[in-house]
Amino acid sequence: MTQLSTDLSTSLAGQVRLFKKILIANRGEIACRVARTCKQLGIQTVAVYSDADADAQHVMACDEAIYIGAAPAKESYLCIDRIISAASASGAQAIHPGYGFLSENADFAQACFDAGIVFIGPPIDAIRAMGSKSAAKTLMEKSGIPLVPGYHGENQDADFLQQQADRIGYPVLLKASAGGGGKGMRIVNGGAEFKEALNACQREAKNSFGNAHVLLEKYLERPRHIEVQIFADQYGQCIYLFERDCSVQRRHQKVLEEAPAPGMSETQREAMGKAAVAAAVAVAYVGAGTVEFIVNQDGAFYFMEMNTRLQVEHPVTELITGQDLVAWQLHIAAGGALPLRQEQLSIYGHALEARIYAENPDKDFLPATGTLYYLHMPQIRWRVSDGRRDAHVSDVGENLAQGSDILSMREPYAVRIDSGVAQGDTISPFYDPMIAKLIVWGATRDQALIAMRRALSEFHVAGLSTNIAFLARLIDCPDFSQARLDTGLIARNHTILFPAPAPLTYSVLAGVVASVLTQERANFMSPLSPWGQADGWRSAEVYQRVLHFMYGTENIIATLSYQRGRLYLEALGRYTSLHWENTQTCYRLQVGEHIMTLNVFAQEDQFEVYVDNQHFILHYIDPLAHNKKSEQAQDTLISPMPGKIIAIHAQHGQTVTKGMPLLVMEAMKMEHTIAAPRNGVIDAIHYVTGEQVAEGVQLLSLVASDESC
Ligand code: ADP
Repeated sequence: MTQLSTDLSTSLAGQVRLFKKILIANRGEIACRVARTCKQLGIQTVAVYSDADADAQHVMACDEAIYIGAAPAKESYLCIDRIISAASASGAQAIHPGYGFLSENADFAQACFDAGIVFIGPPIDAIRAMGSKSAAKTLMEKSGIPLVPGYHGENQDADFLQQQADRIGYPVLLKASAGGGGKGMRIVNGGAEFKEALNACQREAKNSFGNAHVLLEKYLERPRHIEVQIFADQYGQCIYLFERDCSVQRRHQKVLEEAPAPGMSETQREAMGKAAVAAAVAVAYVGAGTVEFIVNQDGAFYFMEMNTRLQVEHPVTELITGQDLVAWQLHIAAGGALPLRQEQLSIYGHALEARIYAENPDKDFLPATGTLYYLHMPQIRWRVSDGRRDAHVSDVGENLAQGSDILSMREPYAVRIDSGVAQGDTISPFYDPMIAKLIVWGATRDQALIAMRRALSEFHVAGLSTNIAFLARLIDCPDFSQARLDTGLIARNHTILFPAPAPLTYSVLAGVVASVLTQERANFMSPLSPWGQADGWRSAEVYQRVLHFMYGTENIIATLSYQRGRLYLEALGRYTSLHWENTQTCYRLQVGEHIMTLNVFAQEDQFEVYVDNQHFILHYIDPLAHNKKSEQAQDTLISPMPGKIIAIHAQHGQTVTKGMPLLVMEAMKMEHTIAAPRNGVIDAIHYVTGEQVAEGVQLLSLVASDESC
């Protein structure tokens, strides 16, 4: 135990009676992460779960679990009454809200108070004060905290707002006052576009937050997003735990976060830290909070908003300070004083966090859903040493790593994974499609980058698309690796980050062929067949067999031949012998003279290969099954992505012609029309307007009509 942790434990044990039992009003990785710290502190935990989550990891991570309703969040995780009843029924003394869901909902904090349950978060008034971006800015202005030039007043008249935009000077950014998640935001480049952008922002704000109020800000070119972690107690003490740089974003949403912010001078750090503390003090803050600043290239920084909860990216702060922020939250909520003074905190090393999402970067980061039929996460590592500095990091590792593996005294970096899913779990359309947070620590930023690169190459998911290969390209992109950070980094590096699909290589195809043959052998294909045998088959005869694959839209033909007891592969303009051994998905392949290792995951006809941070997906075409399948595919209309049905134009029994719009879905703020693939009669409509649907589910069925023959 280090001095720092001993301080915290002593004060936890000595001054404050911690809760005996708390309820965690959340799911996924954050619920698991809160439960882990509670376990270490001897606090019992109660999970809540919806229909979609009965077998979820967070339910298993807690001592008890209470069912709270149907899968859609508004029928379960957002139901204040049900959560309060669950807490009361289980005898929980406090509720940790995690992030998202009800974490910044003042009515929920009020309901906790009314029920005599401690809300592990800030006071109700502080949540309300920071709940509206406009009201918060007015308050911050009064406290002398710098704001981006803009308009954040009450007057919402369109002509008046346009005059304000003209005064501020274009480009101008329109934001929803009640906003979050980048929703509603519009960049306006000139007066002519203003009214249309205003309408769109108001419409989206109303739809998403039930409140059309907007504010205007000068749109800064190439800014950085730097946020400061603060903590305050009930006794008027407030400190900052340094900053995080979250500039690397897509659609105004964070992708990679790091601490400390590269290139930050001590003077700038102190100035921003003090401004963040002033912002918190202005609303009599208590607990964990984050003050977000937008920082110009010249270093000028402006208050953007305050998040009155624990942030997704809090682990990077934990790794550079050696503190467990959830333990701090519990301690303060139980009435404890801040465990450390400002001067007792220091930054050690560098931490990076990558959010591993089930999504498709090539389709504008469209969320993906489905079963994680294969999930291999990198090995968790932490340093072990009796030097205080090293233990600084190892403590966090020890506290937070599950089933970890101690590597060596000299391990130059730490790897931590915060995840709420396991192999076989489903990423459903109801909640955030995050698979895990991959967090690494290194003594320097370069060391942390090495750790991240290696960890990403060990992170394998099969069954749905992820952003892992994209993240690997991102950390290797010179702007990121050399810390030229700003919010436009991804857009500016589009060519590097979104390359054309890599051409299929001979060795990847060889790996897939090896996997097909191994599968056949496992499925008891005739033991006499040479194709079911990976090696050792001897015959003087030559057998030939042709396998067909699809790689994207490309038809790949692989011709196999057995000659004198050896297997040969002819494909992609090459011809060599092929031999392999495998342990489950890991193939040790000998292609001609070249020996290599590949990971090949097979699920029905789909083969996924991970090699060198690249991910290839091939489909094996069984010629007979294929014809039948494509006929069937014509008769079923499948949802191309998770989304909501917003209109159904077809009726049961209706005769439709090819190309006729049948149904409209909304996903990721876009509308998608599903049209009839051929002439036919609508046989069944499986959903109604307003329903949420997963990717790949059958929406309607069509039977062939005479005209279609
Ligand atoms: P939300 O709460 O919807 O996430 P924020 O106000 O936190 O919105 O802003 C999200 C992101 O949008 C910031 O991190 C930054 O990238 C960008 N952004 C916000 N305000 C500005 C601005 N005035 N100029 C340029 N970019 C901005």
